[in-house]
Amino acid sequence: MPKSQSLHDLLPHLACSECQQPQRLSIESAPTDQAEEWQTLLREQARPEHQIICGSCDRTYPITADGIPILWSRVLEQTFDSLDNDVNGVDPTEQDVKAANIQVYDQISDAYDTEGVHADEVTRSRLVNAYCEATNSRVGTHVDVGCGAGNVLQFFADVIDGPKIGMDVSLSGLRAVRRKGFQTVLGDAEKLPFPEGSLGLVTASSVLHHLFRPDRLMQQAHHALSTGGVFLTDFDPNGRAAQWGWLALQLYALRRPVYQMLSLGRRRVFHGSEQVQTWNAVAEFHNKPGEGFDIGELQAAIMTAGFELHRLFPHNCRDASVNRGSFVKPSPRHLLVQALSGRNPFSRHNSDTLLTVSVKPAAVPVMQPDGQISPAAKRQIQELFAEGRSGLQELTEPREPQDGDVVRAA
Ligand SMILES: [Zn+2]
Repeated sequence: MPKSQSLHDLLPHLACSECQQPQRLSIESAPTDQAEEWQTLLREQARPEHQIICGSCDRTYPITADGIPILWSRVLEQTFDSLDNDVNGVDPTEQDVKAANIQVYDQISDAYDTEGVHADEVTRSRLVNAYCEATNSRVGTHVDVGCGAGNVLQFFADVIDGPKIGMDVSLSGLRAVRRKGFQTVLGDAEKLPFPEGSLGLVTASSVLHHLFRPDRLMQQAHHALSTGGVFLTDFDPNGRAAQWGWLALQLYALRRPVYQMLSLGRRRVFHGSEQVQTWNAVAEFHNKPGEGFDIGELQAAIMTAGFELHRLFPHNCRDASVNRGSFVKPSPRHLLVQALSGRNPFSRHNSDTLLTVSVKPAAVPVMQPDGQISPAAKRQIQELFAEGRSGLQELTEPREPQDGDVVRAA
């Protein structure tokens, strides 16, 4: 029974997404009525035969007939329950965003070969370099959140020795990842099904901007990582580059179909259906003109979650360098938008996407027994508020003065 053997291997690395207590999950057969309900919710061909039960809070979770554990949060379970409802494209709720991601990624796995998306050697070397620079550890459990086709798991397969787990909201995606030999779990990126302090590496490539509350993933990753563990994100839109100028926006409004044709990749698949375009727009929740991630706010969010930010690295997609080497040119589309917005498209500051590498530090006691704030905590607070610590350690080029800048005498 290789499949159930593999689930028994995986189980000790998982936790109830509700209470996140370690070592409390066990497998039993699922009651028929419950199993039928789950089969409908998950749109599965086969009925789940087994379930996982949490010994701490008694919550039960389905296991698909082919052995994939469904450790969804309550919100994600409710989302599956209302997947037939229309998604609100104007003012989406958390469930709308989750539903859009499920719909889009189920379709991508069927209609489009995601192998090619971010699967290149350039992306691999950037991610692996970033990890190896942040830690000397090469042992630990690797969880890839939003694993898609499993590219990032493959990147790290020979880098870290330990269990390799792909997590996603799309069952068809997870099945593709499993065929590549990785463990899989269906779960919610905002409520991770892993015990506290159990992981060595959490990666999330092209994920933060798909989440209703990206800060929750940062907090959950911090909780699930062991001390010294690494949290690595990539391919989230740079908010600065996403602030399109008036001219770019006018062209976008007038010639949206042209821009969509210019944008490579999966959007092409979805031409034709208005519903699918809404799904895609809602799934790309923080990725549209005027949105994206402000570098300072992203840095603050990561540090607020408890991480030491090792690096925040703006780059264009084909830029392999992390701390050295050449900076690649922007794509034609990015070049056009930045130029129309009056910005230098060749400046790293204006590049289209952001990578972050963070390390979970040893816990710092804030108060000493004598009631004083500990020196280590003081140092962290000072670092957090230190003027001039931009987090953009690669920004060596001087910034052009802009209107509204106050020039101060020394
Ligand atoms: Zn529980």
